[in-house]
Amino acid sequence: MRSPEVVVIGLGAMGSATLYQLAKAGVHVLGIDQFQPPHNRGSSHGETRITRLALGEGEAYVPLVKRSHEIWRELESATGSSLLHQVGGLIFAGSNGRKAAHGAEDFLKTTCEVAAKHQIQHERLTTDEMSERFPQFKFHSGESGYYEPEAGYVRPEACIQAQLDQARILGAGIRFNESFHSWRKDGEGFCIKTDQCTYRTERIVLTAGPWIGKLVPEWQPVTRTYRQLLHWFQTDGPKDMFSPENMPIFIRVPDATHSMFYGFPELGGSGKGLKIAGEQFDIPCNPDLLDKTVTSEETQTMFESASTHLRIRAKCIRSVACQYTVTPDFGFLIDHHPENNKVWIASPCSGHGFKHSAGIGEVLSKALTENTTPDTLSPFQWRFGEETK
Ligand SMILES: Cc1cc2nc3c(=O)[nH]c(=O)nc-3n(C[C@H](O)[C@H](O)[C@H](O)COP(=O)(O)OP(=O)(O)OC[C@H]3O[C@@H](n4cnc5c(N)ncnc54)[C@H](O)[C@@H]3O)c2cc1C
Repeated sequence: MRSPEVVVIGLGAMGSATLYQLAKAGVHVLGIDQFQPPHNRGSSHGETRITRLALGEGEAYVPLVKRSHEIWRELESATGSSLLHQVGGLIFAGSNGRKAAHGAEDFLKTTCEVAAKHQIQHERLTTDEMSERFPQFKFHSGESGYYEPEAGYVRPEACIQAQLDQARILGAGIRFNESFHSWRKDGEGFCIKTDQCTYRTERIVLTAGPWIGKLVPEWQPVTRTYRQLLHWFQTDGPKDMFSPENMPIFIRVPDATHSMFYGFPELGGSGKGLKIAGEQFDIPCNPDLLDKTVTSEETQTMFESASTHLRIRAKCIRSVACQYTVTPDFGFLIDHHPENNKVWIASPCSGHGFKHSAGIGEVLSKALTENTTPDTLSPFQWRFGEETK
């Protein structure tokens, strides 16, 4: 192929979105991935990802998620795929000793403030109101909640597939099972080496997810990758009670007595199980050596944490290991390369990036085609001190 104007390395959530948007903007673009996305070795597998408009992580994220919802609806019309399911979302917390989550001191309070400021439809609920509305849960005295009808879930594998398919239709080149090795400056552009080819290009996007530290060693000190687990537990109640028509996505904010957990209604019919997950930031992992075996002890720990609030049985139907990359403040890190502003990096999205990925792809495409840094990205640029850059 003739030299592409832009090469995108990594075609998961962020890379497939960027490839699609660049192709849509008429840019001659090539995407390269070491595997064949959507795959189950990075950050973007496991059937569902939560999406919500009022972000407990802060108002800077609101434009990205709003735009992502619009893009997924456009993609649904173009492809016939079902991507975004706005089944509602419930975020609830106890009244005492709340712990920080995703960088927010009080995730529930910030969610409510962002909703009010950005006029996002929502309701505040007392313990009794939550118990009456959502019998799938066992709420504890003193807990209160936030309900957002436009929240829900997206299907990560289907979103990636749809964006890759559309990018291809719009003329993007795609190379799977090809591993990026290095780039170097070559005149006004770059020379890229993979395990199979050498390419010349004008601009580069690095969206390598958990592998970003390998590709950008300058960012390694501020990016850590952690193994995370997803479990599907058998439900305990009338079979329709847990269906997406009757149950929202949910997040239990951590406090002194309860760990954080989140989950989804039962998809695909009764018997498939409620998908539930927590988060761990104690043991970093090497993305190439992700341990995919989930032990019975790990499953038991998840059950003990979530069964305090959910009507589930100790029977785990299946479990999956995944990994994501976090920064010290749990915010995103999206910026150009420390040595060259024609190389953009978007990946360390701290375990809450999927809902924003379609919008990030569009903003990155703008940054590359207009050679500017859109205002939307400024809160996510480098902020960790020069010494670690
Ligand atoms: C368990 C779990 C639950 C989550 N829950 C949510 C949620 O509910 N809501 C939400 O919004 N977000 C959630 N997230 C976060 C979200 O899924 C991630 O932020 C997002 O998927 C990251 O996408 P990415 O493109 O950065 O990485 P990936 O999708 O992993 O893509 C990176 C790609 O780069 C490729 N690559 C790497 N190195 C090379 C190389 N040298 N050459 C070629 N290709 C390379 C990889 O093969 C891979 O395909 C969750 C994440 C996990 C793991």
